[in-house]
Amino acid sequence: MLVERRPVPGRGVAYGTQFEGHLLNVRAKNMSAYADAPDHFVKWAQRHYCSSVKADDFLPRPVYGQYVSSQLREAISLSASAFRCIQGEAVSLEQVADRCLIHLANGQALLADKVVLALGNFPPADLQIPGKTTASARYVANPWSPNALNDSAADRSVLLVGSGLTAVDVTLELRARGFEGTIHILSRRGLLPQRHAAVPFPPFQMDHTPQTVRGLLRMIRLQVKNAEERGSNWREVIDSLRPVTQQIWRSLPQVEQRRFLRHLRTYWDIHRHRIADRIADQLTSQLRSGQIQMHAGRITEYHEVDETVDITYRVRKSGDIRKLRVDRVVNCTGPDGDFRRVGSRLLSNLMQRELARPDELALGLDIADDGTVLNAQGSPSNFLYALGPLRKGKLWESIAVPELRVQVAELASLLVNSLPAETGSSISTGSEVLASINS
Ligand SMILES: Cc1cc2nc3c(=O)[nH]c(=O)nc-3n(C[C@H](O)[C@H](O)[C@H](O)COP(=O)(O)OP(=O)(O)OC[C@H]3O[C@@H](n4cnc5c(N)ncnc54)[C@H](O)[C@@H]3O)c2cc1C
Repeated sequence: MLVERRPVPGRGVAYGTQFEGHLLNVRAKNMSAYADAPDHFVKWAQRHYCSSVKADDFLPRPVYGQYVSSQLREAISLSASAFRCIQGEAVSLEQVADRCLIHLANGQALLADKVVLALGNFPPADLQIPGKTTASARYVANPWSPNALNDSAADRSVLLVGSGLTAVDVTLELRARGFEGTIHILSRRGLLPQRHAAVPFPPFQMDHTPQTVRGLLRMIRLQVKNAEERGSNWREVIDSLRPVTQQIWRSLPQVEQRRFLRHLRTYWDIHRHRIADRIADQLTSQLRSGQIQMHAGRITEYHEVDETVDITYRVRKSGDIRKLRVDRVVNCTGPDGDFRRVGSRLLSNLMQRELARPDELALGLDIADDGTVLNAQGSPSNFLYALGPLRKGKLWESIAVPELRVQVAELASLLVNSLPAETGSSISTGSEVLASINS
């Protein structure tokens, strides 16, 4: 049974966009749904999207959404009678005997032996700025909500708070919607994601990986220097780290993981999560012409006056106070991983029932190595598993397709091996299910 609150399963936030200008930030050759068939997506795209697609291309995200949906359809067709897709929001789980009752927001309930949480990315955390209230009309809290930028074409200036991939997405969409004004982008450090460039990368040698963030940084800088001496660049080093990032993260003591998050996270993000050349070119030209203006600092005040917003911010390093007047403020701080505040009824319920707990860094849930969710006491659940961004605290690198497809295949095989050959499923109201179990 697949429970999805959206009308169409298989899209999520990333591939639910209808805007073709939103490109994948991973090359087509690394986006196959199957780790053991690396050219699967490229071949699919050549057949179903455009015959000239190349392995190194960055394809539109809506096309990837079609690919995921097509894979789901194929999987269903292999055993249609054993598959059910239920549109609804799962809001709570309850252990009943040795099975699990999943309650949906509409009052229905499902009974299952095992439950996998694949909840994906949550909207950005709300910006806590003095002067901003729940009634602030010029503030866009969630840029991923379908109508977030609907009436923006007539604006003269917009402020994007956060300068990562979400700000890049919003910039592209604003321009595509006909917005011609100035885009101000403000973040603590004022750094935009770097651009991709094709560099071959040798496998990273894990023999003597330092156990401190300082040591790791020194090692990476040295490798970048060596790469530059060979005529290559830092991209080679960052890319070679990808297959071993989880291993390095897990080997770091927690105090070092915290140090990384405090001091290096932004630098890691802009080098690791890069943008396609075509997008980088657009941004560069708008930066040069002044259509995009970057600001590094911290917002101290938000004040709506008629149809505009006055923003006060403290400039990084100098501490100077500056003001901006804009027509709209968009929260582009990226997915929130702190499950104590993301507003998911399901996660709140799991914590309340002590079936799950946040990991110690509050980046996701506390999870065992095989994906089993740990309960409030730290014991592995016998029915609950998690995938993807929910595992970020444990693995750090756990959001993109190259990692997800491996997790998914491993978990699928664990589940298949743990289930009896014939497992019934049912859907009815919660009380009906409980009555049938009790009788
Ligand atoms: C804007 C954006 C762009 C990205 N681009 C790329 C990229 O180019 N390449 C890449 O490799 N990765 C990219 N990613 C990373 C992305 O996390 C993964 O590629 C992938 O989409 C994650 O899949 P998922 O199934 O874990 O989550 P999602 O695709 O987000 O799916 C989770 C689904 O769960 C549903 N859901 C949540 N809670 C409930 C509930 N209680 N009841 C019912 N349904 C529920 C949601 O509606 C959603 O459809 C991007 C992420 C974002 C946010």
